[in-house]
Amino acid sequence: MSKYKPLIGVTPFYDYEKKITYIKHGYMEGIAEAGGLGVLLPLMQKEDELADICKRLDGFLISGGPDIDAGLFGEENLPFNGEISPLRDSLEIFIAREAIRSGKPILGICRGIQVLNVALGGTLYQDIYSQIKNKVLIKHSQNAPKWYPTHCIAVEEGSKVWTVYKRERVCVNSFHHQAIKDVADGFLVTSRTSDGIIESIEHAKHVFAVGVQWHPELMWEKDKQHLGLFTKFIEAAAVFSAGK
Ligand code: MN
Repeated sequence: MSKYKPLIGVTPFYDYEKKITYIKHGYMEGIAEAGGLGVLLPLMQKEDELADICKRLDGFLISGGPDIDAGLFGEENLPFNGEISPLRDSLEIFIAREAIRSGKPILGICRGIQVLNVALGGTLYQDIYSQIKNKVLIKHSQNAPKWYPTHCIAVEEGSKVWTVYKRERVCVNSFHHQAIKDVADGFLVTSRTSDGIIESIEHAKHVFAVGVQWHPELMWEKDKQHLGLFTKFIEAAAVFSAGK
């Protein structure tokens, strides 16, 4: 064991009106509970400085947040695409590509799974309810306490998500109106809801490049099994802190 806990860069929210950078509850606490050290990443950083920061980090967490500029996956922004944060888009796409390039662990949560997919060449539904018309979709924007699981997913055996829950049927929360459409090259779909919406992906050849569409950071305090994603992520990052 290293004397250093794995250092995890976490991407922030940004309030453009108040010019405030912040993070919601659950992410930093989950990293700490799993044995890591979370640090909030700066927005508006020059790329060479950001690359320098990435070199010192052992892993990356892309947090939940607003919608991605559809231009980043080659589409016009449709009326139902929501709020866009160009500062987050540029920081997080850089981080996602850096994680894949360097082999360092990355966990993408909600917006994070979408960023991971788009950064590596995949696409999104800008609004699943407007763009998927050939079937009835279940509710993915829940009206229930944030920690409460309102839909279940079918998990692929042997996947990273499987190693966390160790079973096929897992029930999770849901706060999204967008989802992955075309999966980026190199990534595997590891779970879906009953309506076929992609709820998690992982890179086939990376030690831990995992995206989940749900919010484990809002669930683990109520139900410890959901801390497992953080634990597996921090375990993978510990390999990189061990050499320091
Ligand atoms: Mn969902």
